[in-house]
Amino acid sequence: MSDSAPGILPVASAAQVRAYARRLTLAYPRELATVLAVHGLAAVAGLVAPRLLGELVQDVRDGSSHVTVDRIALAILGFVVVQGVLLRYAVYLSARLGEKVLARLREEFVDRVLELPLSTVERAGTGDLVTRTSRDVDALARTVRHAVPETLIAMVTGAFAIGALILVGPLTALPCLVGVPLLWCGTRWYLRRARDGYLQENEAWGGVTAGLSETVEGARTVEALRLEDRRVARTDADLAVAWAAERYTLDLRTVWFPLVEIGYVLPVAATLLIGGLFYLHGMASLAQVTAATLYVQQLIDPLDRFLSWVDELQVGGASLARLLGVAEVPADRTPGGRRPDGERMSADGVRYAYRDGQDVLHGIDLRLRPGERLAMVGPSGAGKSTLGRLLVGVLRPRAGAVTVGGVPLVDLPLEELRRNVALVTQEHHVFRGTIRDNLLLARPDATDEELARALDAVDASWAHAMLDTEVGAGHAALSPARAQQLALARLVLADPHTLVLDEATSLLDPRAARHLERSLSAVLEGRTVVAIAHRLHTAHDADRVAVVEDGRITELGDHEKLIARDGSYAALWRSWHGSG
Ligand code: ADP
Repeated sequence: MSDSAPGILPVASAAQVRAYARRLTLAYPRELATVLAVHGLAAVAGLVAPRLLGELVQDVRDGSSHVTVDRIALAILGFVVVQGVLLRYAVYLSARLGEKVLARLREEFVDRVLELPLSTVERAGTGDLVTRTSRDVDALARTVRHAVPETLIAMVTGAFAIGALILVGPLTALPCLVGVPLLWCGTRWYLRRARDGYLQENEAWGGVTAGLSETVEGARTVEALRLEDRRVARTDADLAVAWAAERYTLDLRTVWFPLVEIGYVLPVAATLLIGGLFYLHGMASLAQVTAATLYVQQLIDPLDRFLSWVDELQVGGASLARLLGVAEVPADRTPGGRRPDGERMSADGVRYAYRDGQDVLHGIDLRLRPGERLAMVGPSGAGKSTLGRLLVGVLRPRAGAVTVGGVPLVDLPLEELRRNVALVTQEHHVFRGTIRDNLLLARPDATDEELARALDAVDASWAHAMLDTEVGAGHAALSPARAQQLALARLVLADPHTLVLDEATSLLDPRAARHLERSLSAVLEGRTVVAIAHRLHTAHDADRVAVVEDGRITELGDHEKLIARDGSYAALWRSWHGSG
């Protein structure tokens, strides 16, 4: 299966990568067959010339007429032209197939990412995922665009050259085998060490960069504490490590490259020499020896390409493993067919742990009353945001359940879930497309009248005339306040009966705050609202207050009742009022 370090998305196994690569290669059998056939034809056209050259040499030796020689020379020219045309067409076809495969890879990857459980994305952080979507996709694109077709072409051309060599005469084909052990052993030796060597190199340069940026960012501290010498020493040490790593891979190359070069030249020399002996002993004709030598010479190019892309294929394989790994994350939702009976939300015995064995919520029981405003207060780190994310179904409880109308949130399909509860944050994201597209995300079947009503509800009349205006990356920029209004209009369209409002993240731009506060309260109207309160006046105005401390709800009731109780909330209120 796949290994998964905590916090990091899994990586697919080598067997899974191979199976996927095979499936992808065979996904377009007709195109693949055509590409291979045209490459084969080009290779055949290229192989005629040496054979004809062999005959030419023989003819000249035998003293044939000028006419024959001219005719052979013309034929050679013709085949070279045909080969050029075929090759161009073959390269075009394989590039097109490569792009097709790449598009499919990207689409499948996007599907996989969109299916990722949100809890996993939250836990793994977005860094890893972003690296996979950018660096790994790029690496794989390079492999699919260049490495795969180049190796394929090299293999086809090489196979045909070997075939032609054997056809010319099995005997004259034998001498070239002297290069095989050298190439085989040398390349194996190199590949065994190269991967780790390059990984070490990357890591070492990563260390140099990290150290340098630390020094630059902390320049004032470095000066204040007179750490200059130490920082310089650290950079020197990092550079020494990088130098050693570079040195190592350079050493590897200084061994491998000459070995390979010798491996290429040796067969040509051997064919010529040993072929010459065969000829002298009457075991091969001059034409055979000439053609064989030229074929061996022709083999060098595909072989060289093949070997130099083998490295690249491994890099692509590693990236593919990381892209496929995303699909290995187990689903955290188990949609069933049950529909919620009513809008009553409740949490029963809910426990949650970000890390195994370390619960941050220890059995939360909470029944929301439809239409109420509940404020959650408590010290930072008590578990308020975690509880908020459980209440909207972003996280799945480790034990217990969060239900709406009797159905656990994790049993609802995502679209159904979003019709019931939503999390409101300072979400500014504007998707690329028209304003209408941005709104329809929340409810694809909404009519223009419904869109207009939603815009009116959040006081965004400016958008009426702009429904078809392109916004998002590369187009007109919306102010953060307007972007926020679009997000709120989406909420009106999705129309969930319960909202969880994280105040820490929904603090609005002060300049636009008053305006947006009005839009926001219009959205909250008539819904059940759980507000994670960082300002106590929110709690004061709420119908009920829940005090969360150390993963538990320790107090629950309205403001007056909790003040009268003289517990944590009363203390919080006094300190806030005293200082504020
Ligand atoms: P609050 O919202 O009350 O400040 P949180 O719900 O954010 O509290 O955090 C509750 C506990 O869970 C804290 O100890 C916090 O360190 C931990 N925690 C929160 N988010 C994560 C996370 N993504 N990974 C691991 N631990 C987390």
